[in-house]
Amino acid sequence: MQGKDEFMRQAIELAVENVTSGRGGPFGAVIVKDGKVIATGANQVTAAHDPTAHAEVTAIRNACKALGTFSLEGCELYTSCEPCPMCLAATYWARCERIYYGCVAADAAKAGFDDAFLYDEMKKPLGERALPIENLMPAEAWAAFAAWIDATQKTPY
Ligand SMILES: [Zn+2]
Repeated sequence: MQGKDEFMRQAIELAVENVTSGRGGPFGAVIVKDGKVIATGANQVTAAHDPTAHAEVTAIRNACKALGTFSLEGCELYTSCEPCPMCLAATYWARCERIYYGCVAADAAKAGFDDAFLYDEMKKPLGERALPIENLMPAEAWAAFAAWIDATQKTPY
């Protein structure tokens, strides 16, 4: 069985290789279950034209595909850098049980990847955020929840 340091080393290597190969940003992630790597991911934002293709999200997608499930219960995420708010939320949604990270957010900021503004934005009331957000047609939008509540064929998650 590999140890924590080896899994983290693999995440770091993925991050470094992603840069040296010209494939993308300096981030790598590994997902481990029962002491084994079940999936890896590296940042693919520019290569895949996908702003959500951070290393952690990519690893989560690959792990779910590998396991054939939407839940990563019993899994641990190793990431070369402290997750951004999107990846942190994705890790919660995926139900991973633990996160190990290498660099801290301040290190990412030094390299030009500053996500502190996102944490700041989330603390502000909706009307004070940089991204305008407006509530429209809430009564009509409820139709989707009404359909879900009444549905007899659904997969709760
Ligand atoms: Zn992220």
